[in-house]
Amino acid sequence: MAGTKTFTMIKPDGVESNNIGNILQMITDAGFAIKAMKLTRLSTEQAQEFYAIHAERPFYGELVEYMTSGPIVSAILEKDNAVEDFRTLIGATNPAEAAEGTIRAKYAESIGRNAVHGSDSDENAEIEGNFHFPVAEVVA
Ligand code: UDP
Ligand code: MG
Repeated sequence: MAGTKTFTMIKPDGVESNNIGNILQMITDAGFAIKAMKLTRLSTEQAQEFYAIHAERPFYGELVEYMTSGPIVSAILEKDNAVEDFRTLIGATNPAEAAEGTIRAKYAESIGRNAVHGSDSDENAEIEGNFHFPVAEVVA
């Protein structure tokens, strides 16, 4: 059975373009409950660790630089079928390919500066949520 939790970040471009409110509105309108949330800024070490799976990709250095360039909002979200439904809500990695009405179609600038993160599996949702929030911070 699919899990009920996913993890998201509003990335530096989404914060800088003043779209925190718009993006959170879309998330809650889609039926996700916010279980933990904070405004924070990643250190280079944190961004490198968070995206370690992409360490060999050509865009890794640029990705780490971008993700540390300004504040982000990180959050744990809850809904039935959370991971898949959230990936549908945010749309494709490249906003040029993102379905109309998705968060990335509306607010992403480019494939790199693409407004939001969404976990790609239940396992990664758990790892990523724990990375950003000690268990004690999560609201019951
Ligand atoms: N990214 C990039 N160039 C690419 C592919 C990805 O800059 O060609 C960045 C982009 O910010 C993306 C992140 O790396 O969101 C992680 O890539 P992934 O393939 O996991 O995409 P996502 O799961 O975020 O849709
Ligand atoms: Mg991914």
